[in-house]
Amino acid sequence: MTGTPVTLDLSSPSRGPRGKPPRHFVDLTPEQRVAAVTELGEKPFRAKQLATHYFTHLTASADAMTDLPKASRDRLVGDLFPQLLTKVRTMTADGGTTVKTLWHLFDGAKVESVLMRYPGRSTLCISSQAGCGLACAFCATGKMGLLRNLSTAEIVEQVREAARALAAGEVPGGPGRLTNVVFMGMGEPLANYKAVMETVRRLVAPAPDGLGMSARNVTVSTVGMVPAMDRLADEGIPVTLALSLHAPDDELRSELVPVNTRWSVDEAIDSAHRYFERTGRRVSIEYALIRDVNDHAWRADLLGEKLNARGKGWVHCNPIPLNPVPGSRWTASDPAVEQEFVARLRAHGIPTTVRDTRGSEIDGACGQLAAEETR
Ligand code: SF4
Repeated sequence: MTGTPVTLDLSSPSRGPRGKPPRHFVDLTPEQRVAAVTELGEKPFRAKQLATHYFTHLTASADAMTDLPKASRDRLVGDLFPQLLTKVRTMTADGGTTVKTLWHLFDGAKVESVLMRYPGRSTLCISSQAGCGLACAFCATGKMGLLRNLSTAEIVEQVREAARALAAGEVPGGPGRLTNVVFMGMGEPLANYKAVMETVRRLVAPAPDGLGMSARNVTVSTVGMVPAMDRLADEGIPVTLALSLHAPDDELRSELVPVNTRWSVDEAIDSAHRYFERTGRRVSIEYALIRDVNDHAWRADLLGEKLNARGKGWVHCNPIPLNPVPGSRWTASDPAVEQEFVARLRAHGIPTTVRDTRGSEIDGACGQLAAEETR
C-alpha cells in the first residue's frame, strides 16, 4: 500500500461531456406513462398495455405487441422505448449457467452485468454507474473513475434482458425465472441514489407496473455512504443491505476503501445496525479476503467483536476470496487462512458464508471487462 491520497468523486450528477440518456418508458411513473402516451395522441389504456409487454412479457419490441394497432405501436415504441443497451460481448462459464455481458450505452460508456443460475434460483449482478468515483484500491472499476450515473431505465434494462433470456430458455436448465438481483456490479449504488431507488421500485412493483420481485431478494450494496444508508432504511422497501467492509480497523480500511476517511468503520457499522433495527432485515457484511493484507486472524476477531458490540443476530458475514485485477500485487488469501478467518468469525457467533466466485474465470473481478474495453 502506498498511502497515496486519492480524490473521491461522490457527486450524483454526471460529469464531463457525456449527456443524459434518452427518456425511456421505464423512467416514468405509471401516472407519467399515461401522460406520455396521451401526448402521443393515444388512449390512456395504452400505457398499461405497454407496461404489460415490458414487465410481464419482457419485451420492448413493436413486432411483439400485436394487441396494439401497427401504427400505434410503431409510434409508441419509437418514442418511448429507445434502445439504451447494446450487447457487445457475452462470456459464459459453468456450463453456460454464468453469463457475463458487456453493454455499450447510448454514449459509448460501457457497463457489465452477470447472470448466475443455480438450482432453484437465478441471480443477476447489475451495474448502477459507468465507472466509479470511490477509488477502492483493489477494484478494476475504481481505476476508471466515474464516467456517469446510469438512468433508471439503463439499470432496469439489464434486469429485463436477463429475465427475458431466462424465460426464453436461453440459459441452460430450461425456461426459468429471475429470482434475485444484486447491485454489486460497476459503481457505488448509493452514489446514484435516486435512479437506484427508482429501479428498486420498478423491480418490486406488482405486475403490470413492475417485475413483482420480492424486496428481500434485491440486495443493495454500499461501501458505507452513511447518510444514504440511513435514508434507505426509511424508504419502507425492505431490500437486503450489504455493507462492503473489507477491514475492521480504520487505518487499513482508509487505504482499501478511501470513502472510509469520510465515514469510519464504526459509523458504517452503526448505520448498518440502524438499518436492521428499522427494517428487520439482517445485514450482510462483505469482506474481500486479500492475502497478507486484511486476512489476519486478529482482524477476524476484531470484526466479530465490533459486530457483536451492536447486538446478536442482526448480521451475516460473507468473506469472498479476492478476484485479482491483472497487474495488481494483491491476490486471494490462502485457503487455510480463509478457513481460519471464517472459523474465528463463527467462534464469535457470527453466521458466515464464503461467497462463491462464480464467473471469476471469465474475466476476473467485476468491472474488469469494461475497464479493459475502455482502455
Ligand atoms: S469496489 Fe465498488 S465502490 Fe469501490 S471503486 Fe469499486 S465499484 Fe466503486
